[in-house]
Amino acid sequence: MTAVLEISNATRRYGEDVTALREVSLRIDEGEFVAILGPSGSGKSTLLNIMGTLDRPTEGRVRIGGRDVTGMSDRQLSSLRGRWLGFIFQQFHLTDGLTATENVATGLLYAGVHRRHRRALALAALERVGLTHRAGHHPQQLSGGERQRVAIARALVNQPALVLADEPTGALDVATGSAVLALLTELNRGGTTIALITHDHDVAARVPRQIRILDGRLVSDSAASVTAGGDRA
Ligand code: ADP
Ligand code: MG
Repeated sequence: MTAVLEISNATRRYGEDVTALREVSLRIDEGEFVAILGPSGSGKSTLLNIMGTLDRPTEGRVRIGGRDVTGMSDRQLSSLRGRWLGFIFQQFHLTDGLTATENVATGLLYAGVHRRHRRALALAALERVGLTHRAGHHPQQLSGGERQRVAIARALVNQPALVLADEPTGALDVATGSAVLALLTELNRGGTTIALITHDHDVAARVPRQIRILDGRLVSDSAASVTAGGDRA
């Protein structure tokens, strides 16, 4: 299998007192759907930010698509994110003044896609999440579940190698959250690689691979055949 993400011995300290992540090693292969489960304060968002190159580990290495990102400049990282990664957040992070289509198209700003192609790609992504009929709506005209589907379309529009989702169902009621999870499952079956962070055991139980994090350490991984070297049978 091809690794889309490899983290080796990543530690993240904040100042002298807080160690949010301790020697975390993790490999995610193409086509996987992984849940990272842990209680509040366990280091999930810190890990997701490092996986997404939004933050750098104090020690350790991160590879995306086989490329070591350690020495990259902020500008190189921004371009790498635009081409390789998609992000979904608990609070959607949509822009109020833009339509659903325009919000989705912002996912192409750093992907090297020419302006005149962005709208068609955004509409295609909205179709994948079942929101063609809401393409001209603004976020405040949409329900929470629809907003998150717009955010999912934005995460998909650049055809990323890996989608990173931080508590994507956390701001939604149970039924709506369940529908969003079903959509992510369907996208994964279509080939999208997804890492989802959650504190919710019921959410994690619906994802094929589960990794647990506690006090900044990975404490278990349901892909049990992972060896110390990170190779999987
Ligand atoms: P989670 O997402 O699992 O709730 P976080 O990754 O947000 O956990 O935080 C892990 C730990 O690191 C917590 O103890 C948190 O207080 C601490 N932390 C997170 N960000 C910072 C920061 N910028 N400065 C200092 N401590 C931080
Ligand atoms: Mg968090």
